[in-house]
Parts: sequence; C-alpha cells; structure tokens
Amino acid sequence: MGDTGVNTLKITLKSIGIDIKLLPDSWASWGTKFSIWPAHLVTACCGVEFAHTSAPGYDAERWGFLPIFGPRQTNAIVIEGTVTRKMAKVVKVAYEQMPYPKFVIAMGSCAMEGGVFWNSYHVVRVSDIVPVDAWVMGCPPTPEAVIRAIRMVQDKIEGKEVKPNIRPSQFDLTKLKPDKPQRPPNPPHRIEFELIKDINVCKPMPNVKWELGQKLVDGFKSTLGNGVKNAVVRNVNDLCITLDSAGRLREAVESAFKLGFDHVKSINVIDLINAGVFRMEYVLGSYMNKELMPVLLTIYFDVPRDEAKVPSIIDLYPGADYQERELYDLFGVWFEGNPWMGSNFLLDPDTPVKYPLRKEYRIPSLKGVVVER
Ligand code: SF4
Repeated sequence: MGDTGVNTLKITLKSIGIDIKLLPDSWASWGTKFSIWPAHLVTACCGVEFAHTSAPGYDAERWGFLPIFGPRQTNAIVIEGTVTRKMAKVVKVAYEQMPYPKFVIAMGSCAMEGGVFWNSYHVVRVSDIVPVDAWVMGCPPTPEAVIRAIRMVQDKIEGKEVKPNIRPSQFDLTKLKPDKPQRPPNPPHRIEFELIKDINVCKPMPNVKWELGQKLVDGFKSTLGNGVKNAVVRNVNDLCITLDSAGRLREAVESAFKLGFDHVKSINVIDLINAGVFRMEYVLGSYMNKELMPVLLTIYFDVPRDEAKVPSIIDLYPGADYQERELYDLFGVWFEGNPWMGSNFLLDPDTPVKYPLRKEYRIPSLKGVVVER
C-alpha cells in the first residue's frame, strides 16, 4: 500500500476517534489486502471468466475479493476485455470516482493491446487511459490467471516487490533491425477485393418448389412492375427481390408491410468498390403472421458510392433507425428522412476516421507495440 493509501486510512480513522498512533501501518495494509472490492467493468466477453472467478468453483472471496457495483465505494476496478474509444471515457470516469488507495486489473489480450481488434480504428489500450497494477493474460484469461492478478495486487499492497507479469512498451518499428529477435505482431491480413465486380445475390437453389413463395414473388412483380429487376424464390422460406434503384425502396417495403412483413431484421451494405456502387440489402420478416414467420424477404438495390442516398424507412419500420444510423457511421450512406443523419451514433464523436468500413479505408499502422512477457 502506498503512502497515500495509509495516510487516507489514518485520517479517516482519526475522524472517527481512533488513535492512529496505535495503528501500525502493517495493520492497515493487512486490512486493505483482504478487502479488495472491485467494481467490474464488463466491456466484453472476458466478463464471463471474471464471473467464473467469483462463482463457487473458484470463490475469489476467499482472498477478500468481493465484486461490488459502485466505483465510489470501491478500491479496485477490473476492466474486462475490449475498450473502445467510446468506452474509454467511461473507464476514466469510473476510475476518477474511486477513492484512494485504488488498484486496476486489466483483463484479456484486448485490454492489453487490442487483442483480436489489434490496430483497428476504435480500440484503445487500458494502460493509455488509467494506470494498471496487474495484467491478466489470455483470450479469454482463465480464472486462475485472474486469481494470480489478485495475488499480485495483494503483494503490492503489502509492499512486497512485485515482478510485473507484462510490460507493454512502445517503440518506432522503423528503427527495428531485421535481425532483432523481438518481432512485432503481424498486421491484419488484407484481402484485395479489386477482382470482385459483382455478386449474384438472388441466385435460386436448384429444384426448389414452394407455392406460397412463388405467389408472393408474383405479387411483388405485379405491384412493382418494371421497378423489379429480379424476383425469385431463392429457397424455401427465402425470397429475394432486386430493385432497379433506391427510388423503388419505399414502394417495395410498403407492399411488404401490407403483406405482413412487420419488422426489419437487418440492413446491410455490400461495398462493390470496383463497380462503384454500394449494394444495399434489407432483410424483412414477420412476427405476427403465422404463415410468414419462417420467411425471410431480402430486398437489394445499388446506389452510387459517391452519392449514396437512400430513403429512410423508419416511419414504417422504427427498428430500422439504429441500423440506418450505423450504416451512416460506417459507410457514409445518407438515409433521407432520418433526423440523425450527420451525427455519429456507433462511433465516438472524436473517432479520427470517417466511414471505416468502406473498402478504400486503410487502417493506419501503429508505430509498434511489443509486449514483453
Ligand atoms: S481478450 Fe478475448 S475474451 Fe477477452 S474481450 Fe478480448 S476477445 Fe473477448
């Protein structure tokens, strides 16, 4: 336990009338050591292993390690997994609220250096936000590894010399000599898409016979007329319609709505960079119409990449709202009529990139992160 911690405890005890001269420092350390009550900040899947650590099998409370909820009543925080730029602020606010002495355990490869999201546009390392006392390695780490980190924090509180289990360090990769034994992690594998010009999205499976599906497809064809480029039964319970333009979307979803397709399952963008278009994909389904419940209706159309404008459908399908906002964030598709266009939703407002899922976007390489173990 550092001087600040002991002093805080002494001042607190003095205020309630306990003679601090009678209290050796070792008592305070001993008390703190077995009173680590962490707020756990579950940012991702590591949280499951943390729960496991506290469950009866491992019973971390045997070491005086008892998770509680409010950062203002805790002396430790376990940050469990991936921290995005948006979440980094929450981590900082939670940490700032904690009284001294306070300790931080960062859990999982994601917390250490980004893990599977290494070098991406939205993930930050915990050590860049708050000081870390113990790292827990793994993806996900085992409960034994979490317990090891708890023991490390306890040793630290007792004033024992603690050998760090990991020391992240940063240096300029350009200065690395080729024969240097430590190698940086491999950059993410890039797939070159230049050869892909088109994708046949409405390809029917051979020999599919589905009467209801054919009836629905014929209905769409007659309602939308020449606005339909292609309408097929792709498989049983799987209908596919390709429209000739974004201008036909409203008509198509309105007739789908009337037929009983009452919700949007997903809206997606396929970036066909080589054709200069975004292929929009709308998947509709039904919760209320028994016959249509297992049926998926997928609607496709193309919009030019340099002027990607699509009518919003949130008045008809309110569930489309967050998906439209996400696609604006990630691809820059403008949904006309959605009042949130122009503002970030998924990405933190200060994320320094625009439309990171467009194919031309290249992740700027980090200068270099090497983790010594
Ligand atoms: S380290 Fe692995 S388990 Fe933990 S948050 Fe990252 S991906 Fe999930």
